[in-house]
Amino acid sequence: MMPPGTLAPGATIGILGGGQLGRMTALAAARLGYRCHVFAAEADSPAAQVCGAVTVAEFSDHAALERFALAVDIATFEFENIPAEAVRLVAAVRPVLPRPEILEIAQDRLREKDFLRSIDVDTAAYREVADAAALQRAMRDFGHPAVLKSVRMGYDGKGQVTLTPEVRAEEAWQRMGGEIGILESFVDFACEISVIVARGRNGAWATYPPVENQHVAHILDTTIAPARIAPETAMRAEAVARHVAEKLDLVGVLAVEMFVTQSGDLLVNEIAPRPHNSGHWTIDACVTSQFEQLVRALCGLPLGSVEHHSDAVMKNLIGSEVEKWREALNDPLAKLHLYGKVETQPGRKMGHVTRLIPHR
Ligand code: AMP
Repeated sequence: MMPPGTLAPGATIGILGGGQLGRMTALAAARLGYRCHVFAAEADSPAAQVCGAVTVAEFSDHAALERFALAVDIATFEFENIPAEAVRLVAAVRPVLPRPEILEIAQDRLREKDFLRSIDVDTAAYREVADAAALQRAMRDFGHPAVLKSVRMGYDGKGQVTLTPEVRAEEAWQRMGGEIGILESFVDFACEISVIVARGRNGAWATYPPVENQHVAHILDTTIAPARIAPETAMRAEAVARHVAEKLDLVGVLAVEMFVTQSGDLLVNEIAPRPHNSGHWTIDACVTSQFEQLVRALCGLPLGSVEHHSDAVMKNLIGSEVEKWREALNDPLAKLHLYGKVETQPGRKMGHVTRLIPHR
């Protein structure tokens, strides 16, 4: 007997957003016998290419959202910047997991940091800034360097300005381009890590080992799994991620990005209540991938093992790097993943290659 509320294979999972995270979720769902229905603004999106049902409409199209909700058994989102109203509309018709309130915290850097502080999780020092004059005052208090970020719609370094003594407040404010900003002290980190935690409907959880993330121009370039950090630091990082997931009452998958400071402290930079780029290695190197964990959590199935049979180095193929896809095929330990994006643009994530280092 399945526990009440379990969705058996054959059910339809709705995915809000049509990007590569949706694509890889749909592939994992298909393997377990589930159907997926994607809602995306663009036709021929990476996720739509691998799904049986697709709604192409704007997130402001309430009638389309309602039809989508009625056509699925449960829904999730694969992209942070989906308008909260659209998610709430779907949630009024069908369960949405993770809870929409979690998405609303992650969408807003101020709410996110306030939440983290409220549950005693350390972050970089930060302050809300509402205009250029407030920024100037905050810059005096924070010193240099510091980082100005737009509170909303920021990812992959978008809406982010590093403040050095040469940068004037007015200019930084314009470049940031948001309505409200958050000024953060600059963290002179030893490395950046992330932990992916999965939590099931019954509260069971599983954490993948922390991985090390190297960014180029604010975009994730390479993930080294596991991170080259002390076991004690790794244990603390997993505990932080679990604490965040529990306090959020998460059902699904959550990535917690952290800085490891020179003195070994952990400062959380960002949370993402969805599968994460730094977890792509789990597809090829772990018993259960982050995407399969999401499907299991959504459907009320038991979580799978997070055991990894290989270490791995995941390299994103960004922009024209996608042309290296043939090279990856010639490397017997490399696994190539292409996202089906038709147009190559600088800074666009086109695919990734995971190079396995099998445990012998
Ligand atoms: P974010 O958009 O917050 O994920 O930032 C993207 C990247 O910018 C991070 O992964 C870091 O490499 C860098 N970064 C962001 N905030 C800070 C900070 N306060 N101090 C130092 N580096 C930062």
